[in-house]
Amino acid sequence: MADEIDLANDMIDNEVSRALKKLRQQALNVQGAKFCVECDDPIPKARQDLGFKLCKPCAEENERRKSLFAND
Ligand SMILES: [Zn+2]
Repeated sequence: MADEIDLANDMIDNEVSRALKKLRQQALNVQGAKFCVECDDPIPKARQDLGFKLCKPCAEENERRKSLFAND
């Protein structure tokens, strides 16, 4: 019995979080937001206007890797 209740709760949790994620993405899409090509995090509008396709952490990681290669 307890297992069935746990299972039902898990299913409800999954449904709710999936619905919330969808709503959040729709809201962002309405605002014209784009998502990082590396990690799927939303990119702030200010960064998009500068033409960035990566969120800040990913862009910094990218730069760090590039500068490592440049020093070779
Ligand atoms: Zn990212």
